Amino acid sequence: MLGKARDLDNMNRSSVTAKGRGKRNSSSRAVGRAKLAGAAASLSSGFRVGIGNDLHRLAPGRKLILGGIEIPFDQGPVGHSDGDVLAHAICDCLLGAAHLGDIGRHFPNSATEWKNASSLRFLRRVRELLDAAGFSIINIDATIGLERPKLAPHIPAMEEKVAEALGLRPGQVSVKAKSGEGLDAVGKGEAIRADAVALIQARS
Ligand SMILES: [Zn+2]
Repeated sequence: MLGKARDLDNMNRSSVTAKGRGKRNSSSRAVGRAKLAGAAASLSSGFRVGIGNDLHRLAPGRKLILGGIEIPFDQGPVGHSDGDVLAHAICDCLLGAAHLGDIGRHFPNSATEWKNASSLRFLRRVRELLDAAGFSIINIDATIGLERPKLAPHIPAMEEKVAEALGLRPGQVSVKAKSGEGLDAVGKGEAIRADAVALIQARS
C-alpha cells in the first residue's frame, strides 16, 4: 500500500483501537475486541467512497459539453472552464474519496491555465493524483439534472469518454439523466447539475 492510502489505513486502525479502550468486564471486553477486530479487518480492505456535485447556470450561445461530448443545443453552462458538470462532479467525488480536497483546490478559477479548458484534462489529472496516492477506482455512478434536451442518446458516448480519461472500462462508469419536473432552477431550464459517487480502493 502506498503513500496517502497507507496513512489513511493506519488512521483507521488507530481510531478503531482507541474506541476499544474503556472500563468493561472481561467477557464484554472480549466481545468488544472481536467486534473491533472485524471492523479493523473490513477497514483494512481499503474501500472508500466519495460524493461530488456541481451546478452551473445556463446561458444562450454557450456550448453544452457533458462528459467531454458536445451536445447540440442552443444553451450551455456558464463557467471558467467548459462547464462540464458531469466531469466536475466526478472529479469531486474521486478527490473526496481519496481525501485529496476538491476541484477548486486543484483547478482554481483564478488560474489562466484552466480558462476554457476541456474538463477531460481535469479527469486525467485527478486520476494521476489518485494513482500517486495509491488508490484504484472501482466504479463511478452519476446523475445529470437537465430539463432539455433529452440526453439518453448521448449517454453511452459520455460513459466511454469519461472512462477513457480515467483509464477505466466503460462498464465502470454509469451515467443517468433526469429532468427537473418543471421545479427548481434545473426544472425551469435555468441550470444544469450533476451528482456523482465513486468507490475507490487502496492498492495493497
Ligand atoms: Zn463546474
